[in-house]
Amino acid sequence: MSLQPETFRSLIKVAAEQVIASAPELTTLDQAIGDGDHGSNMKRGCEAVLGKLDAISAQPLDEALKMIGKTLVMTVGGASGPLYGSFFLAAGEALSHDKHLPDDLADVFGSAVDAVSARGRSHVGEKTMLDVLVPVLETLKAAAGQPDLIARIRTTATDALARTAPMQATKGRASFLGPRSIGHLDPGARSSCVLVQAVCASLEGKQ
Ligand code: ADP
Ligand code: MG
Repeated sequence: MSLQPETFRSLIKVAAEQVIASAPELTTLDQAIGDGDHGSNMKRGCEAVLGKLDAISAQPLDEALKMIGKTLVMTVGGASGPLYGSFFLAAGEALSHDKHLPDDLADVFGSAVDAVSARGRSHVGEKTMLDVLVPVLETLKAAAGQPDLIARIRTTATDALARTAPMQATKGRASFLGPRSIGHLDPGARSSCVLVQAVCASLEGKQ
């Protein structure tokens, strides 16, 4: 899995387009346990990234990821904007500090996940995007270099998303509902799953 500039560009494009396509579903999920803006928040952020796609993909990978992070911080809003922003900023920072892809993919993804956790003061099991991102990180660590890595990540993300339904939210707006947050998928976990699946689909197409 090598990451050429054209590959990165199409990967970002596919991921942003998939999130935009899933905006109605993200809205419905956020209407159930939040304030119903997760779809429009993510759509706005992804449209801003697509609008800057040429400038982003002209940068070296570390700077490109930081640019995506800054764009998301400025445009997404809500709780998820600073969290996704931190994710991409930290991934870019990790690459600026002597980490390289694809060899250090788990380390880079780990720095990004840690940044979300630090920013959100949140951990796995609280019914947030971390409930998809952390299991994906675990699979990245466990299956790095394996030929079926992408398939395993896809399964991990889908299963992890489903496991957010029986959880009670203890972070974010959904936590205000207490036990009534149980029985619904977490919107941010869903958007993370969409992003992960889109990146996997894009990489599968390049193999
Ligand atoms: P808001 O909750 O401000 O309306 P969004 O609707 O855009 O923002 O995003 C909600 C999602 O953000 C949640 O479904 C959850 O996944 C994620 N989230 C909220 N707070 C946290 C947190 N402290 N840590 C991690 N993720 C969080
Ligand atoms: Mg919301």
